[in-house]
Amino acid sequence: MKETVEETDGPEKTFAAAFELARRNPEASFFYLHGDLGAGKTLFTKGIASFHGIDPGRVTSPTFALVQRHSGGKRVLYHVDLYRIGDDRELSELGIEEMEEEGAVLVVEWAEKLGRRLREDGIDVALEAVSENRRRITIRCP
Ligand code: ADP
Ligand code: MG
Repeated sequence: MKETVEETDGPEKTFAAAFELARRNPEASFFYLHGDLGAGKTLFTKGIASFHGIDPGRVTSPTFALVQRHSGGKRVLYHVDLYRIGDDRELSELGIEEMEEEGAVLVVEWAEKLGRRLREDGIDVALEAVSENRRRITIRCP
């Protein structure tokens, strides 16, 4: 397990950090994002998507859909936001296993809600607001 900590002083820096993480791990499929509302999880997802050839403008905070599928890039990317997930039954209905089997990239916001479904080979990203425009990003790679 390798842990790195960095701080960004603006949204574009967080986007760049996410792009760089994906660039360094082009084969990685599971990105588990943690952090409060407004920490930058969706922005981080945009950076990962961008590396995989997906227009980051299409990556948005889902209002009702918990899963957004982005095709048309180098790899299919599923953007999963578990903020509104209820019980384990709801979670199992999302079809996470099927997404994993598809060989797609999975980026999961509020990933701690996956519980036992968290994979050991996932990359963990914790985002923390230090101030209005500053975020501390802790990345754990298996
Ligand atoms: P989340 O998905 O975690 O709720 P978002 O990515 O939707 O968060 O929003 C993060 C917000 O914080 C955006 O409005 C962004 O412009 C702002 N922001 C300010 N500074 C930063 C920073 N250094 N890194 C990431 N986001 C930042
Ligand atoms: Mg979000």
